[in-house]
Amino acid sequence: MAGDSSVNFNLLHRTCKLVVLLCFLHISVTVVFYVRSLDIRFAFVQNQQTQHNVTQSRHTEVPTRTKPKEDAVKVQQQEGTQSEGKKPEEPTKRLEKCPETSPLLVGPLRVEFNNPVNLEQIKKDNPNVELGGRFRPKDCKALQKVAIIIPFRKRDEHLKYWLHYLHPILQRQQLDYGVYIINQDGDEIFNRAKLLNVGYTEALKEYDYECFVFSDVDLIPMDDRNIYKCFRQPRHLSVSMDKFGFRLPYNQYFGGVSSMSKEQYLKINGFPNNYWGWGGEDDDIYNRLVSKGMSISRPTGETGKCRMIRHDRDKQNEPNPQRFDRIAHTRETMHKDGINSLTYQVVKLEKLDLFTKITVDVGKP
Ligand code: BGC
Repeated sequence: MAGDSSVNFNLLHRTCKLVVLLCFLHISVTVVFYVRSLDIRFAFVQNQQTQHNVTQSRHTEVPTRTKPKEDAVKVQQQEGTQSEGKKPEEPTKRLEKCPETSPLLVGPLRVEFNNPVNLEQIKKDNPNVELGGRFRPKDCKALQKVAIIIPFRKRDEHLKYWLHYLHPILQRQQLDYGVYIINQDGDEIFNRAKLLNVGYTEALKEYDYECFVFSDVDLIPMDDRNIYKCFRQPRHLSVSMDKFGFRLPYNQYFGGVSSMSKEQYLKINGFPNNYWGWGGEDDDIYNRLVSKGMSISRPTGETGKCRMIRHDRDKQNEPNPQRFDRIAHTRETMHKDGINSLTYQVVKLEKLDLFTKITVDVGKP
């Protein structure tokens, strides 16, 4: 009997142990699963929050983008002042148009050629003029993009005065401009109008100019209200030169300094290429304009005052004896002689501090 009860007790003891073990196992498995489910739930909540933040930040971006432009500019400017020490970001703001009349103009100017000027000083005096003689106002969008074209040969002294006086004037006039010196290569007879055609063509290869000012190198305006830009009609700018006693030598006179929009220039097929030597080419241009129904616009005699730098007649620029005959036939010749028949070879193109110099072979008569 005693042996039987001890066997029963042992069996009961083992069964109990097994049951306890199974219970422990069950509890462990339950705990593990519970903890894992907690992890997943936590991760889910976190994920949901991140998603929510992203959507929120997307929503806050939208009003910034759709803000009116001026507001956007203000925001950028304020940011600029806050982040001192950091390199300010290039402003992406849209500039407003410059005013119709520049507030920087001063009116009549003193122009004299007694004191020599030098390029280094002119460069220092005009720190905002960029390589190649380019400038555009920083605070407003210029009303016109203007290429200034100057026919040239061996007139370096005159050019210095021109740069000395004109760069400050053109900047005050708030123009987006570039200065192109078209230098006739070699010693053949000079051809002013052909050089002007070359200047027009070469300047347009560089920038989308819409207006062209054609100027002799020795003419300096005496009033900065004489704006070097284009008008509804072709403009004659040098209307009262000291050389002619501050008046027009004749009503049809179109020499010295003039301006034309691209459209006006193309309407007359540019300028004649076959006026070699001094004189007549400006009268031919006048005839072209009139024959195309255009008239000449001019500043007043007071605003249009200008000084010419006195000089001897250039060699290889004698008066052209054929000019009277040519002027008499402008209407017949202008359609085949002009920008559509222009040929030349660029010999050298130099980007200098205060101007772009293009040396060009224009051939000979
Ligand atoms: C010439 C022009 C010149 C004008 C003024 C005219 O006889 O043909 O080319 O600009 O005189 O000197």
